[in-house]
Amino acid sequence: MSDSKNRTDPSRRAFLATAAVAASAAVVGLRPRTASAAGEKLPHLSESDPLAKSLGYVAHAAKVDRAKYPTFKPGDRCGVCRFFLGTPGQKSGYAGCQIYAGYSVNADGWCASFNARS
Ligand code: SF4
Repeated sequence: MSDSKNRTDPSRRAFLATAAVAASAAVVGLRPRTASAAGEKLPHLSESDPLAKSLGYVAHAAKVDRAKYPTFKPGDRCGVCRFFLGTPGQKSGYAGCQIYAGYSVNADGWCASFNARS
């Protein structure tokens, strides 16, 4: 088999494409467990983080400034927010949030981006 045939043979290209996909899947499957999808091991979001501050994030929903955020309702908290990456309904502990990439938020926290899970 000549080199030019190897470069143009459709079955060879299909094989290489399949092998590349399989190799990618293997790499994804071997990701360390510490890189949890829920993000609970990420640094905790600080209330003084500029984005957090602009959205009124508090680590405990009881501290929400109700005058500044009148849409807040008792029971609203990260654990029941659609952006929370932890277990739906999670009552305590930290997990990632789609709004604050690279940080974890308290399941008992809240911010103005709160959007209840349906
Ligand atoms: S977007 Fe939702 S999960 Fe993220 S900090 Fe705000 S209330 Fe919590």
